Amino acid sequence: MKLILLGAPGAGKGTQATLIKEAYAIPHISTGDIFRANIKGGTELGRLAKNYIDKGELVPDSVVIDIVKDRLMEADCANGFILDGFPRTVAQADALATFTDIDAVINLVVDSDVIIRRIAGRRMCACGETYNTATLKGSEICAKCGGKLYQREDDREETVKNRLAVYEKETAPLIAYYRDKKLLIDIDCNGRTISETDKNINKALSKV
Ligand SMILES: [Zn+2]
Repeated sequence: MKLILLGAPGAGKGTQATLIKEAYAIPHISTGDIFRANIKGGTELGRLAKNYIDKGELVPDSVVIDIVKDRLMEADCANGFILDGFPRTVAQADALATFTDIDAVINLVVDSDVIIRRIAGRRMCACGETYNTATLKGSEICAKCGGKLYQREDDREETVKNRLAVYEKETAPLIAYYRDKKLLIDIDCNGRTISETDKNINKALSKV
């Protein structure tokens, strides 16, 4: 099962990727993780990527594509994989198609206002506990350690809205591309629990 997983930040992509990975015994390949592994391992590609990252520049497509291609050649990908964070552009999708055939693209669909509520309502404690204002009933104190709860800068409503807008703008052409190739599977996650969404994904994949 060769899959691509798409979903806005806060759509629950990480959770679903883990469930799919376990159900199909295939690796979850996140480009962020590959970069970190290559940089840590001191590989040639890692050194190349690090040059760009250290300068605060985007790693060019050619480097990203080579890194993903190398990773997909590894033995654990023989029965498939879940790609996460790649491709990001139609050019990358075209490059991917030259070295592997994707079976399906799972698109986790969640309304922006649901994501904004979920993320902007998140409150953290220094002890590591996470809460949501939906269940806090106005409390600003950690039930576990009594610490004062705070909101991460990244979780502020304006920041979340901005991230979602960037994601939508970036991903819309990719969604159209895979819909056109009849590979796109929209999974409506609105009002669904994690296990309901998991069941819906499995049901859709059983038809692939
Ligand atoms: Zn605490």
